Amino acid sequence: MKTFLFVWNPKKWEWKDLEQTISKIKIKGKATEDWSVASHKKISPGDRAFLFRLGEEPKGIVGSGYVSSHVFLAKHWSGENKTIHMVDIEFDVLLNVEQEPILSLDLLKQGDLSRINWTPQASGIEIQKEFTKELEGLWFDFLTTQNIRTNPFINSESDNHQVFTEGTPNQVLVTKYERNPFARQTCIDHYGLSCQVCDFNFEERFGELGQNFIHVHHLNQISSIGGQYQVDPIKDLRPVCPNCHAMLHKRKEPYTIEELKEFISINSLH
Ligand SMILES: [Zn+2]
Ligand SMILES: [Zn+2]
Repeated sequence: MKTFLFVWNPKKWEWKDLEQTISKIKIKGKATEDWSVASHKKISPGDRAFLFRLGEEPKGIVGSGYVSSHVFLAKHWSGENKTIHMVDIEFDVLLNVEQEPILSLDLLKQGDLSRINWTPQASGIEIQKEFTKELEGLWFDFLTTQNIRTNPFINSESDNHQVFTEGTPNQVLVTKYERNPFARQTCIDHYGLSCQVCDFNFEERFGELGQNFIHVHHLNQISSIGGQYQVDPIKDLRPVCPNCHAMLHKRKEPYTIEELKEFISINSLH
């Protein structure tokens, strides 16, 4: 997964239904918008997207999400008679500067992140791998400490947004925590890349091909949590291989890591 910076200049385009889009995220956990991209050659579905507001104060990150389509051609948003490249972005956070704080340019200009050009003229600039971990961490800290209306790390009862992940014998429903890059990385930094159930390690088996590959399982399934809930990537997430992940989800209320280990040890006695 790559990470791309998209830009929004309110001087060039007024976002009239921003509040409606934010309401949609509050209810459904996501909202899709199409966005123009100038440099588009490397973008593919599943890539991470950050939206940067520029042109007028306050400047900073006002949204995040995932690219949810291939690049397509569309008519220019200005109504001009020309075509531009666009992608769909599935936003999980959008901030309205009239209503809540944003991750300001001042904060982004500290530390390593200051080496990124935060005010490119056009969308679709890739953020280099070496910076993405720090950016996701800063974004996580910001979202969990400020009073933000749409926060993917806080779960409400109405929120049961789940997506299918690939690469499992049975498709497994994963929550947004399981695919959030920051939550994933924090979990892996703590537990490592071996399966917590069967100890399988993809790099040991497959070499370079298996580097950094593992699923992340969310212990507290959303449906079982009432009210507000904030995810803790170390307490709530565990790295598991896709086989064990599929087995954990064989029951609607997933098996625990311990129960699954129990199945393996009972079976190995035969
Ligand atoms: Zn396993
Ligand atoms: Zn899971």
